[in-house]
Amino acid sequence: ALEFNINKIRNDFPTLKQSINDNQLVYLDSAATTQKPQSVIDVINEFYTSQNANVHRGRHTLSEHATTLYEQARDKTAKYFNVLSKEIVWTKGATEAINLVSNGLRNRLSKNDTIIISALEHHANIVPWQVLSEQTGAKLIALPVNHDGTLNIKQCCDFIKQSKPSLLTITQASNTLGNITNLEPLITAAKNVDSLVLIDGAQGAMHLKPDLRKLNCDFYVCSSHKMLGPTGLGVLYGQYEALNSLDVYQTGGEMIDKVYLTHSTYRPAPAKFETGTPNISGVMGFSAALDYLNAIQSSELHRYEQELFKYAAEQLVTIEGITIYSNLSDNIGTLSFNFKDEHPYDLATLLDGYGVAVRAGHHCTQPLMAHLGLNGTLRASFCFYNTYEDVDIFINSLKECIALLD
Ligand code: PMP
Repeated sequence: ALEFNINKIRNDFPTLKQSINDNQLVYLDSAATTQKPQSVIDVINEFYTSQNANVHRGRHTLSEHATTLYEQARDKTAKYFNVLSKEIVWTKGATEAINLVSNGLRNRLSKNDTIIISALEHHANIVPWQVLSEQTGAKLIALPVNHDGTLNIKQCCDFIKQSKPSLLTITQASNTLGNITNLEPLITAAKNVDSLVLIDGAQGAMHLKPDLRKLNCDFYVCSSHKMLGPTGLGVLYGQYEALNSLDVYQTGGEMIDKVYLTHSTYRPAPAKFETGTPNISGVMGFSAALDYLNAIQSSELHRYEQELFKYAAEQLVTIEGITIYSNLSDNIGTLSFNFKDEHPYDLATLLDGYGVAVRAGHHCTQPLMAHLGLNGTLRASFCFYNTYEDVDIFINSLKECIALLD
């Protein structure tokens, strides 16, 4: 792997080179979606320019070539997470991957079952379980979360032991706070009571690059667009037996074995869960995104992101009137904060005037906002393509915006 070279990296991301409102763009919204390196953009362009064909159907050269690249991308994804290729299902995002699993359990759960979620979850990892609970009668309960949004792991493990869930679903890192979940003990506690475990890796997949075989969860979901890849593509990992035992989600072409007029048989996973023409160019783009990530040593990437985050957090805490909600000691690089009682939208709008892109609001985590007693926060989320200069501009702009409000 290459050494971490921030100047080269900056140069690889064309969107970062522009001005917004006459200022150099400082992009601090990577938790919403990451920017794309030129290599990803080129691969998508190349696919439509000279390779376009449908996969898995044709016997002609273009179709076979597209199929090879498409399946190679699955292999690459499996390798990134240290799992088997047949355990990787393409979806249209983390959201669809969670819906695929929740739908796949619709005939397995009943009123005697319990599903555990947490107040830290994105709506995408809450609402599908509410629907499943309504459909099956399964009890939906939440892990105990401390007042500050952190977890007392011992208390959580005891809770799992006592509740004996059929499914535990939890995020690897909070999209709002950036807090990293200490997953291993929770998964062990769940496995000790024979529970299935789903991990929402939308925020963790790139920053934390998990070894899923070691992690020992049954399901793991993530989104290409939060890992330098294109939108409209997600990944569902399922430990093969757990995956294959899920009921079918969407049905139609490709996922079938034999179709008669009145009934059909299905192929085994992953084909069973991939119906219709897939997002082929998206898969090609994601493949290039993984190449990009694989070329950087993940320990170097992590070290740089952590140093940058620390640099930002240390300056943010010194600004009078700022309250930070993120756990600063175990974080993927996301700062959630407010200034006094100011509405976060106002500061976000002012910051945009300085070319600084941050997010404001509830970040699709209304239960977490309720838990913290907030209506919303400002969120500055960092990625390895951000620089120390980005942090300086962010902090100085924030100070100027605050002076305008005060
Ligand atoms: N879970 C988490 C933790 C997220 O941050 C997101 C995206 N904000 C999702 C799930 C949903 O991902 P997508 O919108 O790409 O389906």
